[in-house]
Amino acid sequence: MKWLGLAAMALAATAEAGVRCDAVRIDRLAACAEGPGGVVLGPDAAQAEGIVAAIEAGRPVFESVFGQPAPAYAVVFDNPTGAEIAGLKAAGYPAVLPWVDAGPLVAQFEQKLRESIRASIPNLDKQQEDKIVADKLDELRANIGGPSAAAHEMGHLWFSRVFWSDFADGDETEIPKHYGSPGPDWLDEVSGLVFENEATADTRRMRFRDLWAEGQGIAPLPDFLAMAHPEQGKTRETPPGAPTSGSRVVIAAGPPGGARATSAFYAEGRVFADFLIAEGKPGVLGVIATAMAKGTSFDEWLAAEGAAQGLPADAAALNRRWMEWATTTYGAPG
Ligand SMILES: [Zn+2]
Repeated sequence: MKWLGLAAMALAATAEAGVRCDAVRIDRLAACAEGPGGVVLGPDAAQAEGIVAAIEAGRPVFESVFGQPAPAYAVVFDNPTGAEIAGLKAAGYPAVLPWVDAGPLVAQFEQKLRESIRASIPNLDKQQEDKIVADKLDELRANIGGPSAAAHEMGHLWFSRVFWSDFADGDETEIPKHYGSPGPDWLDEVSGLVFENEATADTRRMRFRDLWAEGQGIAPLPDFLAMAHPEQGKTRETPPGAPTSGSRVVIAAGPPGGARATSAFYAEGRVFADFLIAEGKPGVLGVIATAMAKGTSFDEWLAAEGAAQGLPADAAALNRRWMEWATTTYGAPG
């Protein structure tokens, strides 16, 4: 009978779709969502599915800009134990990202935000207030706890897994020089930025455009390529009660409306990545990362491989090309 066949097919599809989750379920987390490349174990299906969708959108991006397959991933909410992380790695998920439910933080922020808006603009009507609040909360979710932030942090994990596997297997506190991985800070940050959703990416580009036009805050390219991450040495934003050992816990991809130097660094990183992707050959960021991981300096790499990758062969010429490209795209610098 036809309907029986359909029911059997539906059942088969469900069983197949649940294979990853069935193998790694963690009892204290009610929801598990999975995609072709990994799983997200979380407190509710909506959050887990949102993060799977964002990371799955990032997988082909990783393969195109870094020229390597993205490792299988698992995202685990609410303070995973070392044993849980080890279990996921043993089950075939080398990129394990501890994550948090940012809902309570966002709710707390909304309350404070409304109070401060009412104090500073007393005659604002409810509709205007809601609009300001909604925009700010979107910005906050993009940076803390939301799917785009998860994709950003997964990008860092993939990057360190693929290009610095010794580092990813070891204790990152042993290498204090760099912010996320042993790579140059600009490249490390780019490895997160290119996985953010378009709305977040465009916010960064608009920030770049403003700073570029003002003639302030955007570092000359040679300085940018050598600079330390502005947040280096500060404690990364972690939720209260987050584990401090056994796993890397990061939920912030950059403070919302935060320090000027930090937002400028992210903005320039996003736009410099756009430049390399537009001007270089596909996978150019992966070629650069491979060279950096061998200890080659960026200038040495440019001299040896820049031309083959569609880029100039020295730093001065690269800077000229960058200035021209940025001026064409964002107007004359201020
Ligand atoms: Zn980052």
